[in-house]
Amino acid sequence: MVPETWLVTGRPRLPWEPLAERHARRAGDYFTLCGLAAPDWPLFSDLDFEPDDHRSCKGCARGALERRYARSRR
Ligand SMILES: [Zn+2]
Repeated sequence: MVPETWLVTGRPRLPWEPLAERHARRAGDYFTLCGLAAPDWPLFSDLDFEPDDHRSCKGCARGALERRYARSRR
């Protein structure tokens, strides 16, 4: 199975830095992991989405951890 790559996305503050919360979205996806429609938010490909990071969206963090857990059980 190909591992999913979740990139950091969010409203931009600077071209390389999100304004506030960091959400997770795959390249080409319309929705973030927590279900927000965010087709016009940039993907910050230099940043890894870290569920433990206090800047990370709680919904996205939970989704990422659940997916990681589900994958490890296969
Ligand atoms: Zn989110």
